[in-house]
Amino acid sequence: MVEPMRPEILFPLFTPVSTLKGVGPRVAPLVERLAGPLVRDVLFTAPQSVIRRVGATVDHAVDGQVQTFIVSIDAHQPPSRLGQPWKIRAWDETGFLTLTWFKGHGPHLERQHPVGVRRAVSGKVERFGSEIQVAHPEYLLPEERAGEIPAFEPVYPATAGLPSRTFRRFALEALSRAPELPEWLDPAWQGRERLPAWREAFALAHNPTGEADVSLLSPHRRRLAYDELLAHQLALAQRKAARRAQPAPRVGPSPLAELAEKALPFKLTGAQIRALSEVRGDLASGERMSRLLQGDVGSGKTVVAMLAVTDAAGAGLQSAFMAPTEILARQHYETLAEPLAALGLSVILLTGRDKGAARAAKLAGLANGAHAVAIGTHALFQDDVAFKTLGLAIIDEQHRFGVNERRRLQAKGPQGEDGGVHLLAMSATPIPRTLELTVFGDLDVSRIDEKPPGRTPVATRAVPMPRLPEIIARLKAAAAGGAQAFWICPLVSESEKIDLRAAEDRAADLRQIIGPSVGLVHGQMPAAEKDAVMQAFVEGAVSVLVATTVVEVGVNVPNASIMVIEQAERFGLAQLHQLRGRVGRGARESSCVLLYDLPLSDTAQQRLDILRKSDDGFEIAEKDLELRGGGDPLGLKQSGFPAYRLADPVAHRDLIAVAADDARLILARDPDLSSPRGLAVRTLQELFDWKPASPLHDAG
Ligand code: ADP
Ligand code: MG
Repeated sequence: MVEPMRPEILFPLFTPVSTLKGVGPRVAPLVERLAGPLVRDVLFTAPQSVIRRVGATVDHAVDGQVQTFIVSIDAHQPPSRLGQPWKIRAWDETGFLTLTWFKGHGPHLERQHPVGVRRAVSGKVERFGSEIQVAHPEYLLPEERAGEIPAFEPVYPATAGLPSRTFRRFALEALSRAPELPEWLDPAWQGRERLPAWREAFALAHNPTGEADVSLLSPHRRRLAYDELLAHQLALAQRKAARRAQPAPRVGPSPLAELAEKALPFKLTGAQIRALSEVRGDLASGERMSRLLQGDVGSGKTVVAMLAVTDAAGAGLQSAFMAPTEILARQHYETLAEPLAALGLSVILLTGRDKGAARAAKLAGLANGAHAVAIGTHALFQDDVAFKTLGLAIIDEQHRFGVNERRRLQAKGPQGEDGGVHLLAMSATPIPRTLELTVFGDLDVSRIDEKPPGRTPVATRAVPMPRLPEIIARLKAAAAGGAQAFWICPLVSESEKIDLRAAEDRAADLRQIIGPSVGLVHGQMPAAEKDAVMQAFVEGAVSVLVATTVVEVGVNVPNASIMVIEQAERFGLAQLHQLRGRVGRGARESSCVLLYDLPLSDTAQQRLDILRKSDDGFEIAEKDLELRGGGDPLGLKQSGFPAYRLADPVAHRDLIAVAADDARLILARDPDLSSPRGLAVRTLQELFDWKPASPLHDAG
């Protein structure tokens, strides 16, 4: 599609903030930091709350409230020493009020507000014993101008040197430059939802007359949120369409895969069968697959990937299977090499450790097609790694890789008409369904929402820290009986050094009681040393593994049956759930102990309860989202979640699916966006100028 030029109607908004009255060289950087570089960005910065100014007499002054009083000036009290405030004593029939200025004010106050005049004063009340004070009153006006003091005032995000009221002036000027735009909403839906027109929505947002008007649930804020969500969904849908137009080799189900499936020591679950058939649909389509396999830890994603690999091999195509760490790559290799070799497929492991002649031999085998599958780490991206006919790229724990890395891998496939590398990504980060569309809107997603049979859920208990000795005693007994345990210490303080010390101290404590089989891994360790400790744990030489923050994602130690997490209340639920997923993979009964510091807040208590009661990652993510509300409860930014300015992923989550449907419909009916509504939609897209950072794809 030809890049449309920005419509002229938007020019007034796409000018630098310095064109706003009062935004000079000193203020401009502050406005830019707060809102962004353009007038549009100032317009897009909506107030977060309102101050309600209540008229009162002095005897009804309430500490901490913003109030307006009508007073007479009684006396000026200039500072007696440098650094002291300038004070005015004022009064009404019910009492005395002190007005205070700490800086930048002086004798001019006495000239402007001489003793005896009546003034309307407004500001935040502070009470010190019997003294009632307003420091730096926001308004101090002649009584007859009291009407100028607004009863409600929006509060904008403020920063030092740029108070909310100053920003408000800029916002109102930005609003005055906002044009009426053609309507891009479906009129019937807009009517049903009672959503105002675009410009009116901003006018209402910037001129609230009460609490309800700053609510994210108000019709005008919903409208603005919807616009942003729609713009984003359109961008995602267009990207998906563009990708679909790229050809890739047609791969049918192969007899090899049938053999591989027969050789499995288990039957595929319903969810695995579903995911596999979706993958196969993509592989056979002639279009490039971009599918995400979403499944909780232990849900069995690897076998689905393996069957896709055998399909590709059946079609004469090589596969590359990437893992974020060496230990994970090695585990995948150990799982896959044998069953694939049984089918006559040669598999190699390629990591940073491969050097010299051995590495050269592996690369030669990939280049001439002798090896069907390469499993490895980032080492697979290197320039001298070439494939004969790469047809499928599999990426485990996809969020650990960047877009560039994936592109480099996909670029290793044959280019041109029959070229193109199918992409299958895997993720165990449970994302609530409502948010999936936003995070992975340009991908096809298969969910494995069923666990293989025979798993006993991990018995989960929350235990207060004072009972630590008891936990350690039990751990000692379990270790003596051959059990293995993870012991997680969180990264909590700002200083990694302090956290590291805490983990080292804990490891030392445990070593004293349990013995020398206690190991320690942390992020500051050289990779080789870390790997060595992990390997000792995998082999059973280490019985208790103390670790800071994250244990290597996805690591499989079937014999580990105990997970202890210190200061569990500090972790996100999704993260706790993933940590817990490291145990409960073997025959032993598994347990998870969530140690918490006292006192525990109500919300923290509820959160730990969710974890005790559920072992479904998606359900946990959903509940966590509801409990925590805004912010970034699930580490979404890290998983590519866009930073919306007007939409809130929680408050507006009902609008996400609507916007996704709407975007699909708009593009289906009018792919070139040339109808009147299509043209309006283009204006919307230009307005947001959306260039989404996608977790898996950039343009093409
Ligand atoms: P993840 O989705 O976390 O990557 P894995 O693919 O590592 O999970 O699978 C976890 C374990 O479950 C493996 O040991 C695997 O062999 C086993 N598994 C996978 N599918 C099934 C199944 N349908 N029935 C029984 N066990 C299965
Ligand atoms: Mg896995």
